[in-house]
Amino acid sequence: MIIRIGIGSCGIAAGALPVWEAVQEEIADRGMSVELEQTGCIGMCHHEPLLDVIYEDGRSYTFGHVTPEMAREIVQAENPASLEKYLVSSPEKRNSFLDKQLRVALRNCGIIDPESIEDYIKEGGYQALEKIIKENDPEGLIEEIKISGLRGRGGAGFPTWFKWNATRQEKNPDKYVVCNADEGDPGAFMDRSVLEGDPHSLLEGMAIAGYAIGAHTGIIYARAEYPLAVKRAEIAIQQARQKNYLGKNIMGSDFSFDIVIKQGAGAFVCGEETALIASLEGERGMPRLKPPFPSQRGYWQKPTNINNVETFANVPWIIKEGGKAFAAMGTEDSKGTKVFALAGKIKYGGLVEVPMGISLREIIFDVGGGIKDDKQFKAVQLGGPSGGCIPASLMDTPVDYKSINETGAIMGSGGMIVMDETTCMVDLARYFLNFTQKESCGKCVQCRIGTKRMLEILERICRGEGQEGDIELLETLGHQIIDGSLCGLGQSAPNPVLTTIRYFREEYEAHIYDRK
Ligand code: SF4
Repeated sequence: MIIRIGIGSCGIAAGALPVWEAVQEEIADRGMSVELEQTGCIGMCHHEPLLDVIYEDGRSYTFGHVTPEMAREIVQAENPASLEKYLVSSPEKRNSFLDKQLRVALRNCGIIDPESIEDYIKEGGYQALEKIIKENDPEGLIEEIKISGLRGRGGAGFPTWFKWNATRQEKNPDKYVVCNADEGDPGAFMDRSVLEGDPHSLLEGMAIAGYAIGAHTGIIYARAEYPLAVKRAEIAIQQARQKNYLGKNIMGSDFSFDIVIKQGAGAFVCGEETALIASLEGERGMPRLKPPFPSQRGYWQKPTNINNVETFANVPWIIKEGGKAFAAMGTEDSKGTKVFALAGKIKYGGLVEVPMGISLREIIFDVGGGIKDDKQFKAVQLGGPSGGCIPASLMDTPVDYKSINETGAIMGSGGMIVMDETTCMVDLARYFLNFTQKESCGKCVQCRIGTKRMLEILERICRGEGQEGDIELLETLGHQIIDGSLCGLGQSAPNPVLTTIRYFREEYEAHIYDRK
């Protein structure tokens, strides 16, 4: 029998470590032959701490909200499966949160021990790297990524193959692969979960990218607020070096590639590629003018390919299963799956991976279980503070890049914050603008001062001191900021305000005109 406990940040915050100790003690006291394993987050953050009991015949039972006392009871039970009251899922009791998902990037999260390279190898890990080295066809590899239709999962949705190919075409032999793990959106934790739950999939994806473009060095730019993610990535790098999946002459080939981690101080703007590069070089994280693009002149002016964690985590699966298998999921313009962090007024908050093209309704109601306390669904903020607010009337919108953009929101990196009938949309817009305003690097006048003026207007509307013309002024300023900003932060900062005005104008008017 195997007992597995989720020891990701969410599990630890909910009390997984005392549960681990209780199980360890109970096994020792009883002299039981049970394998105790740790794993990352399987996405059911709403049920943490989670404990799985797995029998030799493959039957698996998952228990939720486990306390140390419950854990002892589970270990002591002749038949743990009989403790139905604690069960979250079992062969007899399916779990809709998990059943409706399609897991590619998250395929190993919550299943393997993230600190064991053997676990990763057992699940087919590093076979994709082995395959591409044997085939020795970097151009064919890029073609496979093109066939898959994989687009960058960090926000912009740029075709991955195109960036890889552009970097490959550069003549300079010193090239870099950079992983953007600077996840800064409030409510988003996709990258953290992959780093904490399956770091080798990221390393393998980066090594494959290195092979494709001809780079020998990879850098993971992770935020320092993710200590467990950084620790597990460091352990994974050491293990991969020992097995020669990283380092010199990988698997006896003439391909050498190694990865280092650089911790960022947690500035939202460092999610922007050129600001990230500036930070890597030891400068203040401020965006630079493009062109030149990082693929031409990036880190230390060398050709640099940047993708985020989720993008890289998809790559080994695509190489193993084939680009066509990935392209078979999703829609015409948005292939594959997408990871979303469900947060806010939703019953089952956590991390989900679904095929592109699924509707917002299916994600929020079928996977997420609907709205907490059975309140009315009002809207969802998609794409974090750079994204937009989509109202209940558009909840049948398919989740693909084009359809989401048409609503005024963006896919972003996958933050999904759900609002119920009690949420004030003006206050929500104020909250997000307050965030982006503070995170503006200050380089552009429109972004630095325009967002400040917008925030002042929103604050006075929220205080009940709004004036006639404020809504129009917000719209004018919003468009000027979009037009006059250098980087994505400024170009998207007004989105939450503009979309809430577009869909909930009457709330702004009520704040301004209907006060007593
Ligand atoms: Fe800095 Fe804002 Fe300009 Fe981006 S748009 S460079 S964050 S001031």
